[in-house]
Amino acid sequence: MFKCPFCSREGPPIVQKQVSGAGWVVFVLLLLFCLPLCWLPFVVSGLKEEKRKCVSCGSSLS
Ligand SMILES: [Zn+2]
Repeated sequence: MFKCPFCSREGPPIVQKQVSGAGWVVFVLLLLFCLPLCWLPFVVSGLKEEKRKCVSCGSSLS
């Protein structure tokens, strides 16, 4: 069972998908050189990372 190290709440964390740092780099490059494709990092799962947050206290757990 998952347990939050900050508030000791037991239960599954919130998982959010976010564009990673590498994804933003690709986004800027596409914006500069290939504007019609600048949305690609937002749909390519390899350029995203999962963020885990405690449901109770909101602390980042990743
Ligand atoms: Zn917590």
